[in-house]
Amino acid sequence: MRKYKPIELPLRSVPENFAEEQATCPNCQDRSASVIGRLGLRLVFKCEHCRVRFHRTAATQMRFV
Ligand SMILES: [Zn+2]
Repeated sequence: MRKYKPIELPLRSVPENFAEEQATCPNCQDRSASVIGRLGLRLVFKCEHCRVRFHRTAATQMRFV
């Protein structure tokens, strides 16, 4: 059986076209969460407001602009 520890996995750098992505924080709804890295295909965001980290798959992260 595999056990997952809540440790911080090493993040990979994000492709340039995703580096500017922003997301809404699921915790405080702040929209200034920015990409801090990538775990596989998931973009990892960090909310500047409450410091929550969350991720999204890159596939759902198509550019809005
Ligand atoms: Zn937040």
